[in-house]
Amino acid sequence: MSEKYDSNNIFAKILRKEIACNKVYETNYSIAFRDINARAKCHILIVPKKAYISLNDFSIKASNEEKADIFSVISWVAENENIKESGYRVLTNVGEHGHQEVKHLHFHLLGGQPLGGMIKKLEII
Ligand code: 5GP
Repeated sequence: MSEKYDSNNIFAKILRKEIACNKVYETNYSIAFRDINARAKCHILIVPKKAYISLNDFSIKASNEEKADIFSVISWVAENENIKESGYRVLTNVGEHGHQEVKHLHFHLLGGQPLGGMIKKLEII
């Protein structure tokens, strides 16, 4: 059975303006704001406005306009933060193994400093 979207998640509250955020950019379909617990000098979250739990959900249900928009927002923010040339990382955590904490799709944009290897070497279990 597929997971049900929980409209009490923290990003849903930010989207409803019940909780403040440090907004960087916004379009009709997406919003970008700074992560409250930055893991790099630049750590911005890019979030679709509609209720999608994760990339699984978004890839099936989102319109082509929404899909195009989120990538153009990521690109706009990278440019605006002056990290386009130095480089950056975009990632989205999905589900339990992906360690997704907030169950509303978001892309992390990280940069402004060397980020090191992608993930620490994992023990294969
Ligand atoms: P996840 O583990 O789901 O991929 O990442 C969730 C991210 O949301 C974390 O990096 C966390 O710091 C961030 N976060 C959690 N609560 C808030 C909040 O209230 N405001 C902002 N701006 N970021 C938050």
